[in-house]
Amino acid sequence: MKGKLIVVSGPSGVGKNTLLNRVMELRGNVQYSVSATSRPMRPGEIDGKSYYFVSREQFEDLIRDDALLEYAEYVGNYYGTPIKPILEATQNGVDVVMDVEVVGALKIKKRIPDAVLVFILAPSFTVLKKRLEGRGDVSKELMEQRLERAKWEYSQAEHYDYLIVNDGLDKAAEELMSVMQAEKCKTMERIHLIKEENECFIPQ
Ligand code: ADP
Ligand code: 5GP
Repeated sequence: MKGKLIVVSGPSGVGKNTLLNRVMELRGNVQYSVSATSRPMRPGEIDGKSYYFVSREQFEDLIRDDALLEYAEYVGNYYGTPIKPILEATQNGVDVVMDVEVVGALKIKKRIPDAVLVFILAPSFTVLKKRLEGRGDVSKELMEQRLERAKWEYSQAEHYDYLIVNDGLDKAAEELMSVMQAEKCKTMERIHLIKEENECFIPQ
């Protein structure tokens, strides 16, 4: 069985990375899609693990080479999903989780309709602002831009398959894992089991 693509979006600071890390701790057979970006590295980030940090020119080469499943500009920088690792993982039956903003997520859904789109909400805008401030790794100006973008992102949530409120990490992780499990139980994912089982039950 092929692996699933789980695309997670939500405003900056809502807890997407924290949540995906928790899910990967708790659930096997899941791979994180490392994106490419032209934004500068933040303290604590690791090249090749958090992102592939590249220049704008290098990013434009990736676009030209058709190496990205999707890409978008977010608050002045490029972000994009390398396609090769995703194809390899899903073909080997490994689920892929990714953190992609709204424009890119909707492009993925168009290209791969059975990708699962999950939008993460904060319990309130005040909490979102506090989390973003608490992380303390972007300037005040960038924070304002990200919060402005968040308002538009919320307006796009209706296009997603699932909404999860990250008001508690364990609860949100449990909900995301339930979504992943439910997707695996969909009839068309399992229809081959019926054929196999039927053979056992056919009277000789
Ligand atoms: P994102 O990837 O969406 O930008 P992060 O995962 O970096 O967000 O989380 C932003 C901040 O919020 C971090 O300091 C993180 O520890 C905190 N955080 C994440 N989830 C929760 C939660 N459920 N409750 C409280 N704080 C959280
Ligand atoms: P940050 O700079 O906080 O790491 O990420 C900013 C935004 O870029 C987040 O909303 C995140 O979801 C998005 N993002 C990260 N990787 C990708 C990607 O590969 N493609 C797109 N379209 N967005 C991404």
